[in-house]
Amino acid sequence: MASHHVLLVTFPVQGHINPALQFAKKLINMGIEVTFATTVLARQRMEKAAASSLPKGLTFAAFSDGLDDGFKASNDPQKYMREIRRRGTKSLKDTVLSAAEQGRPITCLIYTLLLPWASEVAREVHIPSALLWIQAATVLDIYYYYFNGFGDEIIASSNDPSWKLQLHGIPILLSQCDLPSFMLPTSSDNYSFALTVFKEQLETLDAETKPKVLVNTYDSLEPDALKAIDRYELIGIGPLIPSAFLDGKDASDTSFGGDLFQKSDDCIGWLNSMPKSSVIYVAFGSILSLPRAQMEEIAKGLLDSSRPFLWVIRVNEKANEEKKEEDEKLSCIEELEKAGRIVPWCSQLEVLTHPSLGCFMTHCGWNSSLESISCGVPMVAFPHWTDQCTNAKLIEDVWRTGVRVRRNEDGVAESSEIRRCIEEVMDGGEKSRELRENVEKWKGLAREAVEENGSSNKNLKAFLEGVGAAGC
Ligand code: UDP
Repeated sequence: MASHHVLLVTFPVQGHINPALQFAKKLINMGIEVTFATTVLARQRMEKAAASSLPKGLTFAAFSDGLDDGFKASNDPQKYMREIRRRGTKSLKDTVLSAAEQGRPITCLIYTLLLPWASEVAREVHIPSALLWIQAATVLDIYYYYFNGFGDEIIASSNDPSWKLQLHGIPILLSQCDLPSFMLPTSSDNYSFALTVFKEQLETLDAETKPKVLVNTYDSLEPDALKAIDRYELIGIGPLIPSAFLDGKDASDTSFGGDLFQKSDDCIGWLNSMPKSSVIYVAFGSILSLPRAQMEEIAKGLLDSSRPFLWVIRVNEKANEEKKEEDEKLSCIEELEKAGRIVPWCSQLEVLTHPSLGCFMTHCGWNSSLESISCGVPMVAFPHWTDQCTNAKLIEDVWRTGVRVRRNEDGVAESSEIRRCIEEVMDGGEKSRELRENVEKWKGLAREAVEENGSSNKNLKAFLEGVGAAGC
């Protein structure tokens, strides 16, 4: 395997960069050379926020998406996607050529979601490629079904609250509110194009015979979803989480190594001063911005719960941008600062594995969901868009490791509801004990999956051998 050289191409957001970097570290530990390609700006931000923890032995290849070069997407994601594709395509080809000239030819190209054009580059330069799917296998299945027969039914049923969908490989009935948000006719116009990106992604896969998709999940977590679609070979290789928080084999592997945000240093000291299993950790990932009214309800719910909390509220990253609502101080900020801690970013895994942690109020991004399960932390599931609602359904009804927040008719989760969910997870009653027992079980299975003879480890080795046998 030593002659492999993988080009790993990553969309420039935290939820893609983290699992991709962890995957890169795994490959490097197996003696494989890895070139990690992401955008110029993402690379610069990683250098600024996390220079000391960038993974060792990794070569970087930055490509422009235009944003480093004066291009303005003007809040038009579609325009942005066209530009990253145009510039990225050329740049990736140059990277492949230059690696060959240096005598280190790229033997396999692996790319994360939203970059279907990367596999076209691979085809053009005659290199095998595979998709690194950084969401749940269940979500991939749902997209597949949507584009292969169920799309019209989903759209037609949008006004029928009693409508339910049973899909092969998914052990529960799904309602509209459990589907990836881009599928719903109510999805914001600005993001309805996202569905076309997923469509293109699946068409790219369909162009190959039995394409291989590496999935950041593990066999026992989604056993049927990984096998549901005959057309594809879904390969569970997760959880892609630093070793120190998972199997402990490499105590020095304590971060993904590619934070895009500057983290606050003081939260672990504060957690150290808190009683065991007492703290509510509240974080909604790296992209989501909640409306001001919702932030106020969360704040009130937290205060009413009378429990200590650590809340990540990201600050506006671009100083020259107009201040956004959520950057303005919450009305009860003084009380909040007395009752808990508010930080702009933290090491989420250090927090999730801290003994004083009691539960995680999460937006159910796939990384956060998987991290919480792998660290044995029960959840208050508060999903908002994209795949988060599907993940929340799995958390509440399949893995039974959390309680889902319900919204009122105006789409707001009120403070009383926030408090109710916190209590259900934290009050030590029957439900709360059941959630903890369940999450401990999934945590144990996550560890088993990444052991030497565990399913994820074996799956990854088999994939790499297969790619080698295919001539790269
Ligand atoms: N994260 C972190 N510190 C924070 C908040 C989030 O390190 O304060 C990390 C978290 O561990 C996860 C990633 O950011 O790996 C967020 O990915 P996720 O898929 O959960 O959500 P997204 O940001 O894509 O919505």
